[in-house]
Amino acid sequence: MDKIVNLCKRRGIVFPSAEIYGGFRSTYDYGPIGVLMLRNVKDAWWRTMVQMRTDVLGLDASILSPPAVWEASGHLANFTDPLVDCTNCKQRFREDHLDDVMVCPSCGARGSFTEARQFNLMFKTHAGPLEESAAVAYLRPETAQGMFINFANVLNTSRKKPPFGIAQVGKSFRNEITPGNFVFRTREFEQMELEFFVPPDEAATWYEYWCTERFDWYVRHGIAREKLRLRAHDADELSHYSSGTSDVEFLFPWGWGELEGIANRGNYDLTQHATHSGADLSYFDQESKTRYVPHVIEPAAGATRSMMAFLIAAYDEEEVKGETRTVLRLHHRIAPYKVAVLPLSKKAPLTELSREVLADLQPLWMADYDETQAIGRRYRRQDEIGTPYCVTVDFDSLEDRAVTVRERDSMTQERVGLDRLVGYLAERLR
Ligand code: ATP
Repeated sequence: MDKIVNLCKRRGIVFPSAEIYGGFRSTYDYGPIGVLMLRNVKDAWWRTMVQMRTDVLGLDASILSPPAVWEASGHLANFTDPLVDCTNCKQRFREDHLDDVMVCPSCGARGSFTEARQFNLMFKTHAGPLEESAAVAYLRPETAQGMFINFANVLNTSRKKPPFGIAQVGKSFRNEITPGNFVFRTREFEQMELEFFVPPDEAATWYEYWCTERFDWYVRHGIAREKLRLRAHDADELSHYSSGTSDVEFLFPWGWGELEGIANRGNYDLTQHATHSGADLSYFDQESKTRYVPHVIEPAAGATRSMMAFLIAAYDEEEVKGETRTVLRLHHRIAPYKVAVLPLSKKAPLTELSREVLADLQPLWMADYDETQAIGRRYRRQDEIGTPYCVTVDFDSLEDRAVTVRERDSMTQERVGLDRLVGYLAERLR
């Protein structure tokens, strides 16, 4: 973990937030490389879940929401974690995260915990200038409710019918009792959620479908199968309305941790909002002439948490000619830059041609440009941030109109004519 955190700081992937003021616990800023990678994680998800399907539509709902939404969803009453304090060392813990409820993991004291208190995780704020109760608003602790409260809007404005889904990517906020493990658990984070609305008798089949589909998504984007598992919740872990929940878990350096939860939520959400708002959230199926409240299958993933998993899974060190090479073996879709253009020398004819090459690539891919230091060191810099291809422009390039393309993982090099370069890369970055 230290190596990952170090790399993140050194290469501008993730910085502690408000660092010049001493930092602000558990908040992070995504630097020039990190922002590219995080966007790529979200784009890869959107591509699979929205772009490549005909049965899912997108949404971008507001972060601020009135108490009525959270009253109906059950979050005001139930979105709580059990909080205990150690009376000896004053540390605070989530009771359900303790290995032994009798022993403080910080100071080792026995029986020193206070009674558990239920602590609501929602951030409360005020909309408008008056801090009165009528103006209370909450920062959403999940993006899901945006899809439920817009169910009728989307249904009435699109030509979809169940089974169909609404997808959203965006920030969520939870006042976590024990944030930590770098960006694994933070108070402000990003989620990628799908609410998939289905006829009640199809719920079990779609639940299985999404469990498999979501597990495979991580594998297809470069995480080894052995580092992932799909863990079905035990009956006592399930919420009262859920008939099945499975987590996609990743083997983090400290153990298995959840990347995504896939839940068969029944018709709980739409029924709750229909009852509380008075809106009709049922669906009338013209073919069977039946009316029903759709059931929901929810694959809910964390973008920031997944990005961390992709980073850890890709991190590798190897011996090359007596030196340690650090390389991020990222899937090209997740890699911050797809290609880097590196002139062999800073001399004018080479940099001019290099700029021309760069101008050809930039409209298609995020392309880095670096003309400082020895070429070997520049390759290492690109390896460290996972750039799949380096294009080197040398003195021969001026004559033969060709460049050397170096592949990150194998470090093999190939001479490619400039007229073929875009096609060559496009084939490999598809
Ligand atoms: P946990 O048990 O770890 O608190 P959860 O089961 O409450 O998580 P969900 O409500 O299912 O999480 O949220 C869906 C996804 O959102 C999680 O799988 C995770 O990837 C992400 N997520 C949830 N809370 C956080 C957080 N505090 N920081 C970063 N990502 C989070």
